[in-house]
Amino acid sequence: MRKHESVFVPFLDLKRQYHSIKREIDAAISEVLEKGRFILGEKVEEFEKAFAKYAKAKQCISVGSGTEALHIALRAAGVGPGDEVIVPAHTFIATALAASYCGAKPVFVDAREDTYCIDPEKIEAAITAKTKAVIPVHMYGQYADMGPIMEIAEKRNIIVVEDAAQSHGAEYKGKREVLGDVACYSFYPTKNLGAYGDAGAIVTNNGEIAENSFLLRNYGEKKKYEHITKGFNSRLDELQAAILLVKLKHLDRWVEKKRQIATEYNSALSKADVIMPMEAKYGKHAYYLYVIRSKQRDRLQQHLKAKGIDTLIHYPIPIHKQKAYSEYNSQRYPVAEKAAAEVLSLPMFPELTNEEIEAVAAAVRSFKP
Ligand SMILES: *Cc1c(COP(=O)(O)O)cnc(C)c1O
Repeated sequence: MRKHESVFVPFLDLKRQYHSIKREIDAAISEVLEKGRFILGEKVEEFEKAFAKYAKAKQCISVGSGTEALHIALRAAGVGPGDEVIVPAHTFIATALAASYCGAKPVFVDAREDTYCIDPEKIEAAITAKTKAVIPVHMYGQYADMGPIMEIAEKRNIIVVEDAAQSHGAEYKGKREVLGDVACYSFYPTKNLGAYGDAGAIVTNNGEIAENSFLLRNYGEKKKYEHITKGFNSRLDELQAAILLVKLKHLDRWVEKKRQIATEYNSALSKADVIMPMEAKYGKHAYYLYVIRSKQRDRLQQHLKAKGIDTLIHYPIPIHKQKAYSEYNSQRYPVAEKAAAEVLSLPMFPELTNEEIEAVAAAVRSFKP
């Protein structure tokens, strides 16, 4: 008799995705190597056109990472020292760092407990005469409620920079386009559209933000060796652009697959003793992450680990509790703090097998809080 094989479900396995598109990827990489041009070449231009089309934006400016996309977009929109930038208290630290890099001050606003996105009702109270921009983050793959956010921003003359690092493929009221002044994407390898290294992009319909972003990502260079501002070296490279061009063609299919897996988790977990993710009526969740919640989160994570299920926490320490932001440590954002203490991300990638999905669900169901 065969010995009982123990289950192991990885949180994410990028090798499976690579093997499913290996021929296309290998060909794209060798094409770049054979051409011998590695920075700001044809593939970058081609990707920028393709991604602008995907995001239904006039311009796409590719950059070195999602963090740099946010940083450069803020600067391109005129954010600088003395300004305040409203950011969600519940997000990855890069959202706040981008404001800090500009010399601006991040001002946190608490999350909504159902979507984990910034709470539009709490934005107005955080606005001061110094507020220059707000960065709604489309958390876990679901849009923040952009309607009310845009209304406040227009009324108070504030720039809206969307942090779309987690939301490739999501929709808000049937739309996938830039809803704010500019949207910033990350192509970090684990994201819904991921490169094989760091990469990011800015998309916008605002000509001035686009022009400034093109300058800032490339040493502030207007013409060869003519520099009109102190820019950065933050460019997407040809290899990553070639890889992203291949993967972009599969993105919609992958997001659909993730949505199917979410539906399967939703029904398999309906009787489990956890809070499930909710899809807001206003949009389409792209399930970058499938995040459940439990008051006994750490015990739940241990329980799943013992059953061979790999999970992660996004994110265990709110930004205002981080040492890097010690000046904020005494501030309180109850929803963000609760989320940090209770959220748990289950395995969620398009290549998960039915057996794996069932094993994850069964392990969660067998947890007794
Ligand atoms: C991943 C991520 C970033 C940063 O992107 P990088 O490409 O890793 O620099 C910014 N904001 C959010 C919400 C993210 O998830």
